[in-house]
Amino acid sequence: MRKDNPAFVPDSPFARPMTAEHMEFFRAIPKTELHCHLLGTTQKSTFEDLVKESGAPVTQEEIDAFFTRGDKPVGVLRIFRALEEHILIKPSMLKRITYEYLADCKKHGIRYTEFFWNYTGLARHYSYAEAQAAIIEGIHEGERDFGVIGRLIPSIDREDSPEAAVELARQMIAHRAPETIGIGIDYRENDHEPENFWKAFFMAKEAGFKVTIHAGEFGCHWRNIETAMKLLKADRLDHCYTIIDNPELVEEVKKAGLIITVVPTNSYYLRTFSDEEWALKQPIRKMVPMGLRVHPNTDDPTMHHVNATQTWMLMYNFLNFTVADLKNFMINGIDGAWIDEATKEKWKKEWSEEFDRLAEKFPG
Ligand SMILES: [Zn+2]
Repeated sequence: MRKDNPAFVPDSPFARPMTAEHMEFFRAIPKTELHCHLLGTTQKSTFEDLVKESGAPVTQEEIDAFFTRGDKPVGVLRIFRALEEHILIKPSMLKRITYEYLADCKKHGIRYTEFFWNYTGLARHYSYAEAQAAIIEGIHEGERDFGVIGRLIPSIDREDSPEAAVELARQMIAHRAPETIGIGIDYRENDHEPENFWKAFFMAKEAGFKVTIHAGEFGCHWRNIETAMKLLKADRLDHCYTIIDNPELVEEVKKAGLIITVVPTNSYYLRTFSDEEWALKQPIRKMVPMGLRVHPNTDDPTMHHVNATQTWMLMYNFLNFTVADLKNFMINGIDGAWIDEATKEKWKKEWSEEFDRLAEKFPG
């Protein structure tokens, strides 16, 4: 496995050797991140500190296992449950993870991030208001020290009840903060369809929050994507890989102008496809030629053993997209962000000029 290849991503028939100049290009591209889960940014050393601080019954062997990503990765949800149940017992711990995540954004060219956090599993330890305040403190200090803008998307735990989701929406509305701009939904999609949570989505939407929905992940039916778009009026979509099975729905998503956040290191496809076929069959490779507007993201960077630089490199070098495609993905990331139109236009102009200057030096 070559040095620039993120751990446990199979080599690709499209891959060429990447030099330091190549990697510097992927790092320097001005980026938004629109799909990243706060707990999935926890660094191993921080995780170890937090276990000590909390006195959680988690052994070093378990921590080592959490941060080991096998050839056929099993996913990270069990790690999140350990964090929620035993480890993140103080709001200050959320602040620390947030601040460290923004430091990492700075290292990899991310200038603006909208990231997910789940309250439902943390409700046993402290109130929504306390948790949100701690994360926002981390955001403010991160912006001050690294110049990275962070915005929050509280996310529905779809393995919990629709009533818990309604409670989340209620808390978002009761403790409204300018940094909190939308609602999402995550955890296991199988048997947890988005429509079950319609009430929470409707409440949040009516209160002026944006909506984004994880749908069509884990090989789940494209019906969930259709539900997210048509019934729940999502402003953005996450994953949506099974949309390639329904060309009519592809046309509708295009017509609606929705941006789809995608994850090249998605565990399901690394697990499902053989090493030989992974790069050829990864659905993102079909989504782009179908005309869908996608934007690449890390999802759970420390646990997927990937960073934003490598994510963008994978799109080019492993999934065979061109430099011009990467520029489009950068623009998609601005159009998909929940920012005002004037900022969008400004960033599109400035970042495009910056991208073009960087691309001139790209070794090809
Ligand atoms: Zn996700």
